[in-house]
Amino acid sequence: SIYGWIAMTGNPEIINDPANHPHFKPIEGLDDDISSLICAPFKGRGRVMGTINVYRLGGDIFDEASCELIAATASQIGVALENARLFEATKVLANTDGMTSLYNYRYFTERLNEEFERARRYRRELSLIMIDIDLFKKYNDAHGHPKGDDLLRNFSGILKTVIRNSDISARYGGEEFIVILTETGKGMAIETAERLRKAVESKDFEGGETQPGGRVTISLGVAAYTEGLKSPDVLVKSADAALYRAKEEGR
Ligand code: GH3
Ligand code: MG
Ligand code: MG
Repeated sequence: SIYGWIAMTGNPEIINDPANHPHFKPIEGLDDDISSLICAPFKGRGRVMGTINVYRLGGDIFDEASCELIAATASQIGVALENARLFEATKVLANTDGMTSLYNYRYFTERLNEEFERARRYRRELSLIMIDIDLFKKYNDAHGHPKGDDLLRNFSGILKTVIRNSDISARYGGEEFIVILTETGKGMAIETAERLRKAVESKDFEGGETQPGGRVTISLGVAAYTEGLKSPDVLVKSADAALYRAKEEGR
């Protein structure tokens, strides 16, 4: 169409008597009476994202000044859209762990504060699972740091498949991960943790043979919100203490 053609050229134009323009494909009943049109592309990062189309009917014709005004408006729209896109992209980056693409610690604490407040105010269930890879130092020593990074990424992939979309999985630090399970009580959280533990144990990770028992394993700690709990920190500390116990009792 004429709009696609102008998007390709990238330059705004006035088209008088569009019915006789080679690229004009009128929509019947809609475009019958158009006597003049301005089509102005708008751009983001130098690429055309769309066009603004302004019409005059019944014999009236646009002048150059109108075209300049529409073109300037289109250019402003391009800038606004590009800024909005950049803002969204920056927000995602600020919340994401670069290595694993899971949420980062910053986002985790922000969301935990919100979810904790919601659980407290509306008496909803809320649980945490804290996860630590067993003897990960040994794995790094045997296969090198880059392979260790691969393992963290592969583990994160498993985490994403086991955890519900509504749950929030984050990289807590180095080889430690944490999951916020919303609307989930202790029993379900323990089941989920056990499902995750089994999923990791049964996965044939590259290089797993150097780990005790010939497999990569994880230890997990679960904590559930109970009424009267003072702060989200207490919940995190409980999950951490449970994880520590799992480590103490043999990983
Ligand atoms: P445990 O079973 O008690 O958790 O033993 P561990 O060896 O996993 O624990 P420790 O805390 O001694 O070692 C954690 C290791 O994780 C040491 C550190 O080099 C490694 N690590 C932390 N972050 C990264 C990372 O981003 N990439 C790699 N490759 N290794 C990391
Ligand atoms: Mg650790
Ligand atoms: Mg560890």
